[in-house]
Amino acid sequence: MLNKLSDAIYYLPNEDNRDRPTLGLIYGDQWSLIIDSGNATQHAKEFLQEIEKLNAPPIKYLVITHAHWDHILGMNEFDATIIVNSQTNELIKEWQSYSYDDNSLQKYVNNNQMSTQCMKIIQTEIPSRNTFKLNSPDVIFENTLNIDLGNKVCILERIQSTHTDDSTIIYIPDEKVIFLGDCAYGTTTNSLFHFKQSLLTPMIQDIQKYDAEWFLLGHESICDAEEMNIYWEELTTASRVVKSSSLENSLECFKAEYKRDPNDNEFFFIKAFVNDHIIKSK
Ligand SMILES: [Zn+2]
Repeated sequence: MLNKLSDAIYYLPNEDNRDRPTLGLIYGDQWSLIIDSGNATQHAKEFLQEIEKLNAPPIKYLVITHAHWDHILGMNEFDATIIVNSQTNELIKEWQSYSYDDNSLQKYVNNNQMSTQCMKIIQTEIPSRNTFKLNSPDVIFENTLNIDLGNKVCILERIQSTHTDDSTIIYIPDEKVIFLGDCAYGTTTNSLFHFKQSLLTPMIQDIQKYDAEWFLLGHESICDAEEMNIYWEELTTASRVVKSSSLENSLECFKAEYKRDPNDNEFFFIKAFVNDHIIKSK
C-alpha cells in the first residue's frame, strides 16, 4: 500500500524479503514524477495499480536513482520520460545488452555479473522474458536538473556517494523532502561489504546542503532529520578511527579517542571502512 507523506508525495515502502526498494511518487498541478521503477515488471505494475487509486495528474517523468537492477528492471512499465545522470546511462547499457531467458541468466550468474537472488526475481516477476529488452533512458543530465511539475519543483543532483558512483538524489524544496536512493549505504566488492571512505564527507556535505526534514532511503523507507543525523554521526565517528586495514588498530584507536567501546552500528561501520582499506590495498 502507498504511504502518504504529504499532499504531493507518496511512497511505496521497501520490502527486503523480495529485494524491493522504496518507490516514490511526487505530484504537482500538472504532472506526476516517479522515483525508481521497481525491481521487476510485477513490482512496477503493483505500484501503478496503487497510483491509479489516487487522483494524481498524469505520470510524465521517471527518475532512476542509480543503475542497480532492483531500481531499474521495472522501467518498461512506465509510459514516461526516463531521466538518469550520464553515469547511470552508461551503466544501464549492460542491462540493456542482456537477454533474459533462463540460459542467459544462468550464464550471467556464473560470471558474477548477476546475483542468484536477482535471477530468481527476474524469473518469477518478469513475464515474457524470452523477448524482454530493457528500454533506454530519454533524458541524460550531468550534474543537476530542475523539473517543475506545476507549482512543484524537484531538484535532481548527481552526488558523491559511498554506495555507487552514479547516485542521483531528488529534493523537493516545498516539502523539505529528499529521496536518497541507496546513496547513503555501503556496497559489496569481491564479497566484502565496505563504505567508500573517501566519499563519506563529500557525500554528507552534498546532502546536508539541502534543508530536508524527511529522508527516503532505498531500503529503509523513511527517516526524520534526527535519525539521519544519528546515522551520519555514527558513520563519521567510525570513519575517523580507521586509517588502515587493521580492525584491531581501528578499535584501539576508537577506544583511545572516545574513551568507550563502539556501539553495534559503529562497530559495523568500522569493519566496513576497514574492508575499504583491504579492497584498496589489493
Ligand atoms: Zn543500490
